[in-house]
Amino acid sequence: MQHRASWLPVSAQSDFSLYNLPFGIFSTKSGAPRVGVAIGEWIMDMTAAYELGFFKTLEIEAAVFKKETLNDLISLGRTETQTIRSMIQQWLTDENSPFRQMASRVLVRQDAARMHMPLKIGNYTDFYSSEEHATAVGKLYRPENPLMPNWKHMPIAYHGRASSIILSGTAIHRPLGQTKPGTSNYPVFGPTKALDFELELAYVVGKNSELGKPVTASEAEEYIFGVVLFNDWSARDIQRWEYQPLGPFASKNFASSISPWVITMDALETFRVESPLQVPEVMCYLRTTGLKNFDIRLSAAIQPKGHVETVVTETNAKHLYWNINQQTAHHTITGCNLNVGDLLATGTISMPGPKGAGCLLEATQGGKQVLNLNDGINRIFLEDGDEVIIRGFAERDGIKVGFGEVRGEILSAHPDFI
Ligand code: CA
Repeated sequence: MQHRASWLPVSAQSDFSLYNLPFGIFSTKSGAPRVGVAIGEWIMDMTAAYELGFFKTLEIEAAVFKKETLNDLISLGRTETQTIRSMIQQWLTDENSPFRQMASRVLVRQDAARMHMPLKIGNYTDFYSSEEHATAVGKLYRPENPLMPNWKHMPIAYHGRASSIILSGTAIHRPLGQTKPGTSNYPVFGPTKALDFELELAYVVGKNSELGKPVTASEAEEYIFGVVLFNDWSARDIQRWEYQPLGPFASKNFASSISPWVITMDALETFRVESPLQVPEVMCYLRTTGLKNFDIRLSAAIQPKGHVETVVTETNAKHLYWNINQQTAHHTITGCNLNVGDLLATGTISMPGPKGAGCLLEATQGGKQVLNLNDGINRIFLEDGDEVIIRGFAERDGIKVGFGEVRGEILSAHPDFI
């Protein structure tokens, strides 16, 4: 890709380069939540730009930028949102653009704004698409046969809870629930003692699909708008006691956190890479050709209260066994429909290597191995006051597209119940 520079000073290290231009919902002291586009340290106020006439060549209503979520903007379709991003890119690179003269009326500093949930999420599905993660977790329970027989034939998933998906920065109470200590024949009630994070990405659905009509693997890209960072908080002790026979329920329904900026699929095009070889060959409806994975570097850090953070995970989305086209095709092959704003999360992303585990269950080998953090602190699972920070970016030939971060702090269990 040819390098382009903006007249607006944007640090080479910024996640929000001219090539990124992600969409989010922000507010300022003087205004209601509305659509913004991140550029460097600024947010472009799309309503202000519209009112100054910058989108007059497009047949869109101002209302689409004044909404409290991105759903209506996304519903305009991929062509419209592509055009909006291209126009902004053009204004930011053209020294003589009228936009430059108006910049002070359109740009808001990010540190003077508050971010909001960017989406109304109707449904959320969590896949289990990392072979490294599925194998490592499987080994803890079934050392001789870690991957279930179905795993290489279809993208495994469960339907998660959309109502408790929360924005980065929202603290969560340690969940309460039933667990069964290994030495006891009976379960006990109380706060989880095995609270974990799961480092994931979540794809944002950008187009409604028709009930009863499968989306093919090759059509899938029309149905995906963008990607956010995703932390699927998990209570492992609750999970262990409840998960058979129907899978995770209360161990994962209390919170999942997302990053505020939705990175568009258009911004990620440059970072496409080959998918891992799939053996045995997948069934016809799951076959894909071309570059379907994305080279996105991801990390997770733990910051205990009053201490410095320690990076505990360094992984990459390019290792995922199942890609988004296959996930979409499998999700809809039955006729199940997708709606704008739905999230399709990847599942925990792990890779080989010393910090390759995307969650603590895997990093500590089921709680058997202590993790040494900075400041002489040890962890097996998360403790009250710990903050987990997940970050991600793609970079190639000096072009960087970052995701920002998703963070969340653990509070003690709800006081009414302990
Ligand atoms: Ca998960």
